[in-house]
Amino acid sequence: MTSTHSISPELTSILEKAADFHGHLGPFLVIGVRAGLVGLNRVGITKGDTLVVTASVPIRIPFSCILDGLQISTNCTIGNQRLSVRNSDEIQVTFERKGNGRKVVVALNRSTFSKLKSQLLQENLSDREVRELAWKVASMPKDMLFIST
Ligand SMILES: [Zn+2]
Repeated sequence: MTSTHSISPELTSILEKAADFHGHLGPFLVIGVRAGLVGLNRVGITKGDTLVVTASVPIRIPFSCILDGLQISTNCTIGNQRLSVRNSDEIQVTFERKGNGRKVVVALNRSTFSKLKSQLLQENLSDREVRELAWKVASMPKDMLFIST
């Protein structure tokens, strides 16, 4: 599949950082990075200790890869205790800004999620195909990827 939506140099650079941290580049890592960026943008901050993130995801691979993407893009980590994780069948991330109480929920679009799930859970998917899926997710318009409220 080709896409006309381009990937910004900023996103490319953060994805490289995320892949290096995580060990590989896959679509759910990209979803984590992009959900983090959307959340930061919506709560109106870049990075900083006023943000707390709650991630609801299925806690198994490949879905849990999202958590590393979120940690890289938001600096809210398990270690600094600004990331909490909940096991869930759906994927949804809450961003809460301490101080003004501003709260944003970014949920992965259900039909995108089920399409990706069926593509990824195919057997014999090569590393190259997984990376291709990752770039496809990276180039998807964010309104197609997420529903944010
Ligand atoms: Zn992964």
